[in-house]
Amino acid sequence: MKKLYFGSNLKMYKGISATREYLQKLVENTKDISRDDIELFIIPSYATLQTATDCCDRDFVRLGAQNMCWEDQGQFTGEISPCMLAEMGLDLVMIGHSERRHVFGESDVEENKKVKAALSHGFKTLLCIGETAEQKEYGISAETLRSQLKIGFYSVSPEECKNIWVAYEPVWSIGVNGTPASADYAESMHKEIKTALYEIFGEKAEEIPVLYGGSVNPGNAESLIVQPSIDGLFVGRAAWDADKFDTLIRDAMKVYAEHNC
Ligand code: PEP
Repeated sequence: MKKLYFGSNLKMYKGISATREYLQKLVENTKDISRDDIELFIIPSYATLQTATDCCDRDFVRLGAQNMCWEDQGQFTGEISPCMLAEMGLDLVMIGHSERRHVFGESDVEENKKVKAALSHGFKTLLCIGETAEQKEYGISAETLRSQLKIGFYSVSPEECKNIWVAYEPVWSIGVNGTPASADYAESMHKEIKTALYEIFGEKAEEIPVLYGGSVNPGNAESLIVQPSIDGLFVGRAAWDADKFDTLIRDAMKVYAEHNC
């Protein structure tokens, strides 16, 4: 059976002590789950990263950053250098989250610069993609995802696939006003994504896990995780309580195992 990915982006929510408590509890809760079966990752906010790396047992939880600059250093006030993230001991960075694209106006070309920089620093690089409600309405979801992937991974070599993760997060499904995608719709978009990744990277694309994110909750996690093209769940609000996230993971794993035995 394939390894399942479960992760959460804490956005700008938990402060330093809340992040510490959350991570310690999540490790305690999930310790008995074999890490051969799951990859568990958490992406806290920048100001908490040093505390997170100090307090969290990294054998159980991989920690990541929510964004980074494509340059190592220079006149980039307010940006975070990949060298600084590496110095903190991080090995995962998320690029192109919907809020970076749609609230802060980042473009595919900028995401590509960041992806290339992250890979060149040896980070696991999680590229987030997703269509808006309007693009879905116009029937151009697949085209949108293909173009985000083609530009996002422009001039990235197939040898880098071992360090690439992709999260499909339809913009209309994310956050408090989001509507969760149905499992069938998510599966059909994941198939499109896997086809596009194959076009870009050839066979090495099979190494890239593709996660679904956007209003994942205890009521839909199981129907999503059993979809053949969904390799994991990228969970926001429903993961921010360590007990509830632990339950969601276990329930999803159970259903996945039953479905695949
Ligand atoms: C997100 O913002 O990436 C996300 C998946 O959030 P939520 O699960 O809360 O919709």
